[in-house]
Amino acid sequence: MTKTELHTDLRTAVRELCSRFPDSYWRELDAKEVYPEEFVKTLTEAGYLAALIPNELGGSGLGIAEASIILEEVNRSGGNSAACHAQMYIMGTLLRHGSEEQRRHYLPKIASGELRLQAFGVTEPTTGTDTTQMKTMAVRKGDRYVVNGQKVWISRVDYSDLMLLVARTTPLEDVKKKTEGLSVLLVDLKKAVGNGMTVRPIRAMINHATTEVFFDNLEVPVENRIGEEGKGFRYLLDGLNAERVLIAAECVGDGRWFIERACRYASDRVVFGRPIGQNQGIQFPIARAHVNVEAADLMRIRAAELFDAGQPCGAEANMAKLLAADASWEAANVTMQTYGGFGFAEEYDVERKFRETRLYQTAPISTNLILSFIGQHVLGMPRSF
Ligand SMILES: Cc1cc2nc3c(=O)[nH]c(=O)nc-3n(C[C@H](O)[C@H](O)[C@H](O)COP(=O)(O)OP(=O)(O)OC[C@H]3O[C@@H](n4cnc5c(N)ncnc54)[C@H](O)[C@@H]3O)c2cc1C
Repeated sequence: MTKTELHTDLRTAVRELCSRFPDSYWRELDAKEVYPEEFVKTLTEAGYLAALIPNELGGSGLGIAEASIILEEVNRSGGNSAACHAQMYIMGTLLRHGSEEQRRHYLPKIASGELRLQAFGVTEPTTGTDTTQMKTMAVRKGDRYVVNGQKVWISRVDYSDLMLLVARTTPLEDVKKKTEGLSVLLVDLKKAVGNGMTVRPIRAMINHATTEVFFDNLEVPVENRIGEEGKGFRYLLDGLNAERVLIAAECVGDGRWFIERACRYASDRVVFGRPIGQNQGIQFPIARAHVNVEAADLMRIRAAELFDAGQPCGAEANMAKLLAADASWEAANVTMQTYGGFGFAEEYDVERKFRETRLYQTAPISTNLILSFIGQHVLGMPRSF
C-alpha cells in the first residue's frame, strides 16, 4: 500500500468513527462541561490513540503524519481532539527516554487502553511560560522523591491514570544553566490523589477538563523518573516538535470544518433576495480563509515528513503550528461573520468551535513564543529572554 492510499484509508476510517459522534454529542457535553468519555474510549479501542506506539509494544507503529491525520479528522468532524491528543505526544517522552523496563511495563497497557497517560504537568501559576523558573520541587529522600508545589491548567488529570510531571530536582541557584536541574516523573494518579496531591477543576471558556493541582509532600518512587535526573528540560524540548505538528493538524481540521460550514450557510441563506455568498463581501473572506488553511496544511505536511524521516524539523513544526492556528482562527471569525446572529446560537456549533480553536493562539504554546523561537533560533536575531 502506498502512503497516499494509507492516508486515504485512514481518513475514511476515522471519519466513519467520528460520524457516530455528531455535533449534538459534542454540544451537549460542552453545555454540561462533561468529558467525552465514550468518544475517547471508542477512539482508544479502535487503536487510533496508539498510532505512534511501536508494533512490538502493542501500538500500530505509524508516523506523525498518520497520527496527525487522525486528530485532524476528529476536529474536522466537529469534535475536539483536545480530549485525548496529549497521550500521543506525552507518550513520546516515555518511548524515547524511558528505561526498557518502563517502556515494556507501561506502553502496551497505554496502547490497549488499560492505562491512560494524558496529563502533562508543566505550567505553574507564578512563572507561566518561563518554564525553567518553575517552583515545584521534587526532593530525593532515599528511594522516593517528595514533591511540593503547584501547577495550573493541567488538563485531563481526572480522566487519566498517569501524569507526566516536570519538577525541579536541583534548586535554580545550584545549577550552572537554568535549563539544568529539572526532572520528569511519572505520577500514578490513582495513588497520588488524596495522598499528597489535590486536584481542583477550573471552569474555563471551553470544555477542557482542566484543573489546578497542589502537591503537599507527594511521594513518587525514584523508579518512576523518566531518563536521567536533571535532564528533564531536554526531554521536554524533544517532545515539542511532535506536539506542534499534531496541534497544527487539529487546527487544519478546525479550519476545514469552518470553511465547509461557512460555504454551506453562505449558499443557503437568502437575504435581499439572493444567497449571501453571492456577495463578494461574504464570499472573498471565506475564499481567503480557505487559501490560508490549505497553505498552512502544506507546512504541516512538510514538518511531518521531516519528523518521520528523522530530520531536524523545529522550524517547520513551529511555523506549521503558527500558520495553522492563525488560519483556523481566521476561518472561525469569518464563519461567525457569515452566520450573522445565528453564529451565536449554540445549536449551530460555530460558537463552540470558535471558542475551542481560539485556544491554539495561547496553548500549548502562545503565538509570541513561536515568533521568538523563529526570530532567535531560525533567523539568528538577538535573544530577548
Ligand atoms: C485550556 C488550557 C489547557 C491547558 N492545558 C495545559 C496542560 O495540560 N499542561 C500544562 O502544563 N499547561 C497547560 N496549559 C497552559 C498553557 O500551556 C499556558 O497557558 C501557556 O503556555 C501560556 O502560559 P501562561 O498562561 O502562564 O501565560 P504567560 O506566560 O503569563 O504569558 C501571558 C502572555 O504574555 C506573552 N509573553 C510572555 N512572555 C513574553 C515575551 N518574553 N515576549 C512576548 N510575549 C510574551 C505570552 O505569549 C502570553 O500571550 C493550558 C492552558 C489552557 C488555557
